[in-house]
Amino acid sequence: RSRFDAAAAADEAVRRAALSGQTGGPAGYGGPEASFENTPDTDPDLPANRAWGRAILERVPSSTLGQATAESHELSTEAELEAVINTALARGTAWGALTGAERAAVLHRAGVRLAARRAELLEVMASECGKTLDQGDPEVSEAIDFAHYYAELAKQLDAVDGAEFVPAKLTVVTPPWNFPVAIPAGSALAALAAGSAVVIKPAKQARRSGAVMVEALWEAFDEAGIDRDVLQYVQLSERDLGRQLVSHPAVDRLILTGGYETAELFRSFRPDLPLLAETSGKNAIIVTPSADLDLAARDVVQSAFGHAGQKCSAASLVILVGSVAASRRFHHQLVDAVRSLKVGYPVDPQTQMGPVIEPAAGKLLSGLTTLGEGEHWVLEPKQLDDTGKLWSPGVRAGVRRGSEYHKTEYFGPILGVMTAETLEEAVGIVNDIDYGLTSGLHSLDAGELKYWLDNVQAGNLYINRGITGAIVRRQPFGGWKKSAVGAGTKAGGPNYLVGLGSWQDAPFAA
Ligand code: GLU
Repeated sequence: RSRFDAAAAADEAVRRAALSGQTGGPAGYGGPEASFENTPDTDPDLPANRAWGRAILERVPSSTLGQATAESHELSTEAELEAVINTALARGTAWGALTGAERAAVLHRAGVRLAARRAELLEVMASECGKTLDQGDPEVSEAIDFAHYYAELAKQLDAVDGAEFVPAKLTVVTPPWNFPVAIPAGSALAALAAGSAVVIKPAKQARRSGAVMVEALWEAFDEAGIDRDVLQYVQLSERDLGRQLVSHPAVDRLILTGGYETAELFRSFRPDLPLLAETSGKNAIIVTPSADLDLAARDVVQSAFGHAGQKCSAASLVILVGSVAASRRFHHQLVDAVRSLKVGYPVDPQTQMGPVIEPAAGKLLSGLTTLGEGEHWVLEPKQLDDTGKLWSPGVRAGVRRGSEYHKTEYFGPILGVMTAETLEEAVGIVNDIDYGLTSGLHSLDAGELKYWLDNVQAGNLYINRGITGAIVRRQPFGGWKKSAVGAGTKAGGPNYLVGLGSWQDAPFAA
């Protein structure tokens, strides 16, 4: 048993409340946010938008990633980091004293500034992280949605009788490189909406994407005549400084998106620090004989190979039930669709699957090159250039229950095919996995849907849809089991701000 058991039990209680849709706030908090609407993505079928996209790609380097990061200023001493923390804390007092409605006005401006920089954000994500435009565009929409949605939630904090929301003083945000705009934006905007000061430390592979996003937020502060220093953006040269940041005594919340081990490591630095962590996933889509197989094939391919599988929400297993496995029709459809994916760098508008961000190594490399007992390649991944970043998509079949592949997250372009006699067996295969982030079912049978919904263990459940690309408010995003560490509140959902402060009885309450 781990030494985090007590904390984990407490987390579990909060997580269950969160998953059951409770807001986590006092009576009167939460409810419909009348004025929120999701931002539409760019329609690629309009000729004007295609020209717009081509112009963006003209500014993207042809193959090498990471160039965008070259000239960046890093903090290199403890004293510099200390100064940043102190500035954020000092500015946070005035920010936290504003009403939720006053903060909401700044957040709405931030949404507008992010929208104004859509092209620039797409360019930087393509250059720095290999994101194709079709993957980057919804990510920008998501960041904009976070701004407007959390603004509406901030206003609701004002409206509760008898309790006062006291924000965290300082929230540290450590986002990943795979969603280098939406995740840091969402995390920072939530903390700001709650009334906390924020320090963001971007992933080293995605510093410029994070910087452009932060500039948009700073513009919003400038426009509103509010000191932008309540939001700090730091690049750190030393691992030790990272540790100093996430274990600093002045920090009272940490929002982390990354691997499970990283979350546990950060937690070990300061076990008392409340953590909002969305971590690893090993996600499956189940396809039953009642499914629309054309739709299922399309959704499995998109969920497995979008952004080369580098999403914690990605599908890396498809479980074929009964005659779907036996008939082979779905199998051929799936394999043909995967084989036809055009792999390349984002600069080529034809590219459907981009590179892996770091040359494949370690666990990912082993997933791309080795098979477990009983497994065979239906499509063997091939390294396509000498960077180690460009791989053709892989499909392995014969994956056995309890095997390494069944339970391990590889975070790359590999899909494993498993089979089950019944839906019950398929759900058992899913629930054997320690993680529980996203899960999918393709079925048109009401009894199957109900059985699956009642029994499958994952934070985000998707029926007859791909399992990536959660939409703000409509699909609050967060995991179960080892896919979440800490509060277990869901990003883009009604309970998220509640994790970033605490409620106190209002002295003036009637
Ligand atoms: N929110 C993203 C999605 O729904 C996944 C985030 C992640 O991979 O960290 O696809």
